[in-house]
Amino acid sequence: MRVLIGTGNLKKRDEIARILEDLDLEFVLPTDLDPAPPSPQETGDTFEENARHKALAYAATTGIWTIADDSGLVVDALDGRPGVHSARYAGEEATDEQNNDKLLAELRDVPEEERGGGYVSVIVLANPEHVLLQTRGTCRGRILRERRGDGGFGYDPLFLVQSLGRTFAELTHEEKARISHRGAALAEFRQGLPQVLQTARDAS
Ligand code: IMP
Repeated sequence: MRVLIGTGNLKKRDEIARILEDLDLEFVLPTDLDPAPPSPQETGDTFEENARHKALAYAATTGIWTIADDSGLVVDALDGRPGVHSARYAGEEATDEQNNDKLLAELRDVPEEERGGGYVSVIVLANPEHVLLQTRGTCRGRILRERRGDGGFGYDPLFLVQSLGRTFAELTHEEKARISHRGAALAEFRQGLPQVLQTARDAS
């Protein structure tokens, strides 16, 4: 069965496809399709709203069941910012580099004990009419004062997992998947998926 992963972020695509690889699914990206469907706007105030909207919009445009994720970093000292705006924190076309610089600048005067934050990931599967499955995962950590590590993406070099003493950018793919917000959301998603697929096969 063909499933669209509704993202333009290849690292996210890889994380999702790797965790779901043992299911009998063929993953395609919007850019694999001709014509490629437009990226839906992310105008919601919550990760849930955005993930549901993305999955439903891609599925409605393409007719293909779609998995979409909305995720971001929620920082305690910034009242939850950058939150749903994590990808474009430093501006519409901001790079990871610029977003991390802005985060460091905003937290410059924040002491160690107040530098807590967490990643959130919401994963949704939708067909053109309905949301079929929705899960949420979180991962708590601390925002460092300087970058550490070359792996991951986004804010990973600044996100310290205290129990490991390493940032997300210092973990292997497997280590990150085991503890990350997306890993947690996908593990629950992976559990719910066979039932949803079976119901769809029974109905067709
Ligand atoms: P989205 O594509 O709208 O969900 O934007 C998610 C943004 O949140 C990314 O561009 C990153 O800035 C941040 N983000 C989400 N998950 C991660 C992660 O696992 N590592 C680092 N940054 C992440």
